Amino acid sequence: MPHLKVFGGGREIGRTCLQLDINQHHFLLDCGIDPASRGLAALPNLLGTRIDQLDAVFVSHAHLDHTGAIPNLVKLGFRGKVFMTLPTLALLNLLWQDELSLMEREWPKEERLWSSKEMHKVLMKLAEPTTYHEVFKLDSLKVDFHNAGHILGSTMTEFSHNGYRIVFSGDLGTSSNHLRYWRTEDFAYPDVLICEGTYGGRNRKSREEVARDFLESIRITLEEGGKVLVPMFAVGKTQEILKILKDSWNKLPNVDVYLEGMSIDTLRVYEQFLIYMDDRVRRGYLFNNINPFRWGALRLFRSISERKHLHTRDSPCIIMAPSGMLRGGWSVWHTIKMAPSEKNLIAICGHMEEGTTGYDLLNGRREFQLRDMLTKEMMDVNVRCKVSHFDISAHAMHNELCNYISRVKPGKLVLIHGKEEGLKSLAESVRQHAGEIVIPSNGDRIDLEQPPQYAESERNVELPIAQNTSLVLPKSLSIRVKHLGKDRYMKTEDIRSLVKSP
Ligand SMILES: [Zn+2]
Ligand SMILES: [Zn+2]
Repeated sequence: MPHLKVFGGGREIGRTCLQLDINQHHFLLDCGIDPASRGLAALPNLLGTRIDQLDAVFVSHAHLDHTGAIPNLVKLGFRGKVFMTLPTLALLNLLWQDELSLMEREWPKEERLWSSKEMHKVLMKLAEPTTYHEVFKLDSLKVDFHNAGHILGSTMTEFSHNGYRIVFSGDLGTSSNHLRYWRTEDFAYPDVLICEGTYGGRNRKSREEVARDFLESIRITLEEGGKVLVPMFAVGKTQEILKILKDSWNKLPNVDVYLEGMSIDTLRVYEQFLIYMDDRVRRGYLFNNINPFRWGALRLFRSISERKHLHTRDSPCIIMAPSGMLRGGWSVWHTIKMAPSEKNLIAICGHMEEGTTGYDLLNGRREFQLRDMLTKEMMDVNVRCKVSHFDISAHAMHNELCNYISRVKPGKLVLIHGKEEGLKSLAESVRQHAGEIVIPSNGDRIDLEQPPQYAESERNVELPIAQNTSLVLPKSLSIRVKHLGKDRYMKTEDIRSLVKSP
């Protein structure tokens, strides 16, 4: 019987890691770290797993809460393959290098989770980059990646075996100004759906409304002569915010916009994969060579002297610098320089994890000891500037999650990647759209139904469609049909009971 074990991401956000045992294969679905923890506490708890017997890891997307522990697996003896899309591989290369330098810079040696050796082994040898709908087979098991619309290259993974299907949503996207939105038509009615619930129970303002508030705060600060710091998540949010600024640049004072650190590298990856983006972006690029993320005001920092020079001048500007939660990196350095002046603004975008400086700042703390990454000294920082929060997220909000589940209609629904209350509230809202709902904790094992084992002669269903003609389709295939005036998905054997011989 196939089953699922939850090692991380059960009733929590961070360190997502599940084991799927199916058809004699042992797979991991993601293997992430908890970005707010350090050392072993950041890892999923894989105790009791024969790591050398795992066949493969399927990576839903590049974010560290889904990938940060994969090089650690190699350290523990993992030798299997790591499947992901090509843009995910390009982003992983950047995110892991950045995480490695953070561990080397700020963690004691014995707490570091992996080294460049394990990282390169995954990137150069074990990684198997593929693309959406390049269905691949592992014995009789088929695996298909669908677009999840969360960040560049993000996937929903569908496993199918003899008509039995399991779908893992990964992190599910929301409406974005550059990514394609997800669709569910291709994999509706799976036997099992493993779905994220970060925003279970919570809705946000519309994207347009948040963008309006964000631009308005920036405009006021710049017109009053202040500088704006946007602590930046390098993947996804950098591109989203660059496009918001570019699209509305005529409403803002014409200042310089500085982009920092890893955000520059991830921007270059996004630019290489414009063809993966939404249709307007693709057409703008293909027909008019329009880069959706760059315009005349954008400057890229190249040297430390440029950075220092910026803070000796009294002119307004916008600085976008990682990391987004002020967990380290240049955003912390700029905070030390900018926080003491009342004229300036720190514009925090998106979810802040408890235990990070970004979280404390949002929750009213105003005195900090922050490490200056140039002098390596701890600095006392008194925050007197304005601090604002803009809920620009890459995650589907409650209503979108409900819409998604109501369209997918799984036999069994497993909710992960969310706080307990949020997941319960989501379960309550979608009860009528799933056969059974499970909200597992870390360490739980969930038995999945036995997939149907057909004899050779029973594998197909013959559907008569005209005189002397019939269509032979695999058993248990879900097909969209119009029945009694309504569109719905039905399995082939159920359709046969409706079709009369012509
Ligand atoms: Zn994510
Ligand atoms: Zn996540």
